[in-house]
Amino acid sequence: MITAQPQSFFAPVRSLLAFVLCFAINRENLPTASPHSVPSIMHSSLANISFDGNLSFDNIQHVAKDFGNIYHLMPSAVLHPKSVFDISSAIKYIFDMGSTSELTVAARGHGHSLKGQAQAYQGVVINMESLNVPAMNIQAATLPYIDVSAGELWINILHESLKHGLAPKSWTDYLHLTVGGTLSNAGISGQAFRHGPQINNVHQLKVVTGRGEIVTCSEEHNADLFHAVLGGLGQFGIITEARIALERAPKKVKWIRALYSDISTFTKDQEKLISSNDSFDYIEGFAIINRTGLLNSWRASFKPKDPVGANHFISEGRILFCLEVAKYFDPQEYKHIDKDIDTLLTKLSYIESTVFMSEVAYLDFLDRVHLSEMKLREKGLWEVSHPWLNLFVPRSRIHEFSEEVFGDIVRDTSNGPVLIYPMNKSRWKNRTSLITPEEEVFYIVAFLFSAMSSSTGKNGLEPILAQHNKILQFCQRRRLGIKQYLPHYYTQEDWKTHFGTHWELFSRRKRTYDPLAILAPGQNIFQRANSYVRHWFST
Ligand code: FAD
Repeated sequence: MITAQPQSFFAPVRSLLAFVLCFAINRENLPTASPHSVPSIMHSSLANISFDGNLSFDNIQHVAKDFGNIYHLMPSAVLHPKSVFDISSAIKYIFDMGSTSELTVAARGHGHSLKGQAQAYQGVVINMESLNVPAMNIQAATLPYIDVSAGELWINILHESLKHGLAPKSWTDYLHLTVGGTLSNAGISGQAFRHGPQINNVHQLKVVTGRGEIVTCSEEHNADLFHAVLGGLGQFGIITEARIALERAPKKVKWIRALYSDISTFTKDQEKLISSNDSFDYIEGFAIINRTGLLNSWRASFKPKDPVGANHFISEGRILFCLEVAKYFDPQEYKHIDKDIDTLLTKLSYIESTVFMSEVAYLDFLDRVHLSEMKLREKGLWEVSHPWLNLFVPRSRIHEFSEEVFGDIVRDTSNGPVLIYPMNKSRWKNRTSLITPEEEVFYIVAFLFSAMSSSTGKNGLEPILAQHNKILQFCQRRRLGIKQYLPHYYTQEDWKTHFGTHWELFSRRKRTYDPLAILAPGQNIFQRANSYVRHWFST
């Protein structure tokens, strides 16, 4: 059997297999069920359940697509739930069919996964956005929180909580994602160094397990399930409701960018900022390789501190690192904001002429990626393929990583941004299912590329995926101890390597909460006995 091979011998073969499978799946050549096959009989019996919402068998192609636009797995039905009981009844029904059934169920949030994680080949996809219960409800107490449906988009939660002068503490860079979708991963942005990821800022969840049971869980009650589903890749239950911690919302944001020409100074400053109590409120950064007229392109939204110096700065042919930070404030209350920012900036060693600043409303700052989305949509560049690779890199290996990857593998960043910023593990809950490197400080390095399906050039899907493969192979060869974020693997052996010593806990939790492996088949971690995907992969 493949997985019994020694790791070092098998790695190149596995990469090749991964590469080939990727395109096989992209070509939508999975087998389809005949109208009278066993699955179709099971599905029609599912149609006999009475739902508050509805189960649909027609016009369901849209859920066989996600933001990645690389995998397209057709389900058999889509459930549009109107109550938690709809979800529970569907899963319980499938669970009660026992191990003779092949049906799987995938919750779909906003479908912004990258590699089919919210898809279910010939299974049932649950459209979580139609579950709009409970209505958003805010408790503006000493420790304020908001109760929301897990199908709610973060942008709507922001709008609602701002009406009360409040906002969630931790974010993703893009807010048109659902609560259930980001809590199944982690939810990371420039606030994570202070508040931890979004999975750290949840008090309570309601979950429907793979047995169809409805369970409320928190740190105090059913804590094992609570920790399991946070970062749990949808494996243990479908989150239907979440209680999210809030804080007082600022009104405005000073948003600042500055460039560095070497990784050591850049990371030293980033690490200094994330470890200080007196710092910015948001700390991120990105790598820029061989960009022409970079500072000019910033002028539409930012003002240079030194316009003349900025005019003379040349970015072309260089590897640069941009520190991106923000300080929140309320103009009525915080009169010394500019002075405090100057004090913070004097402690940093960026290239003097490259500081750019902007002042924006808090809402506009948090929803900044949506602006880019609108522009890309206008040009028809949003619905392309998105071969993204997100890695957590231990602090001790980030320079080695950067030297090889930015020096040799990725020759320019014209296909999309490459984020790079550190986080501190002590701010993260350690009993969740999320896997991070062993070290206290680790970096997220996110290659957020877009590919043109028609292109055979370097912006085509295949060259970008090949580049990702090269990066992963380099990390493996050098044993950098990286972990994938929004992970994607083809074999259970690879998943075991990903989870390391946590695999036993992860698989024990699977046996407890979803023993028939009904949930989130698109993650490809556990497979139902007789499942279609298993059948297809082995033929
Ligand atoms: P889906 O893609 O619908 O689902 C993701 C996974 O979660 C699937 O396995 C699905 O079955 C499962 N799932 C969905 N809902 C539930 C539920 N209620 N209960 C249990 N399981 C569920 N991530 C970050 O951390 N930080 C970022 O800054 C960031 N920026 C992004 C920007 C863009 C433009 C995009 C497209 C993605 C970004 N992401 C970021 C990644 C994003 O957080 C994940 O892809 C997330 O899963 C997307 O949410 P979704 O609602 O679309 O989930």
